[in-house]
Amino acid sequence: MIVYKSKDEIEIMREAAQIVSRTLGKVAEAIDIGVTPLELDKIAEDYIRSQDAIPGFLGLYDFPNTLCISINEQVVHGYPTDEPLKDGDIVSVDCGAIYKGYYGDHAYTFAVGNISDEKKKLLEVTHECLNIGIEQAKAGNRIGDIGFHIQQHAEKHGYGVVRELVGHGIGQTMHEEPQVPNYGRRGRGKKIKDGLTIAIEPMINMGTERVTYLDDNWTIVTADGQPSAHFEHDIAVIDGKPEVLSTFKYVEEALAKK
Ligand code: MG
Ligand code: MG
Repeated sequence: MIVYKSKDEIEIMREAAQIVSRTLGKVAEAIDIGVTPLELDKIAEDYIRSQDAIPGFLGLYDFPNTLCISINEQVVHGYPTDEPLKDGDIVSVDCGAIYKGYYGDHAYTFAVGNISDEKKKLLEVTHECLNIGIEQAKAGNRIGDIGFHIQQHAEKHGYGVVRELVGHGIGQTMHEEPQVPNYGRRGRGKKIKDGLTIAIEPMINMGTERVTYLDDNWTIVTADGQPSAHFEHDIAVIDGKPEVLSTFKYVEEALAKK
């Protein structure tokens, strides 16, 4: 069942999403060659708690940390380790927070040092996929329209769209109905209408769409070992239009200063 939100609930969700956005901004300030994912995790946890919020992933399905940090061929759900980041890595940082009982869930893929042109292109196109998906989240469309357009854009560049993992409804629980795949057929799925709150999160692989689990049973990696990127925003449909509750503003400000 889809839980549609009132405007008041959406305002709380905007706060939750903004806390995550500012947290990613803190991560953006700190991320660099030689920094460890666990250090970033600590920065994120401390910041979230300073905002009267609770880390949203910590303990969710027994996940042990605040951030999911997935490097290079890791697609999502990597957990932070003490292995320093290296020049040329691309690092997906996915973060959740609970504020006044509502979740924010939001991800950005960072470049560490100098990355290859191929990786740059992957980040660019995956970010475009997110924006293209968001444009489709308007009243009158259906959930399938979001995935259809994301898939088209990714495949146009020869990339693989992960099938096993999808975006989702979000609210008082992290993962609600409906599922929001990054692939699909236009005109299919639930109708989009006011009060719908969803996380759109394309996971795009440079090579094959196929993925596999590492032995840790958390980390999902590409089957061919090629890199993968991931960007995520929280969206609410208000007056028929998609409104982005999260923002990359803080990330972009921090990166511009480097
Ligand atoms: Mg996420
Ligand atoms: Mg999500």
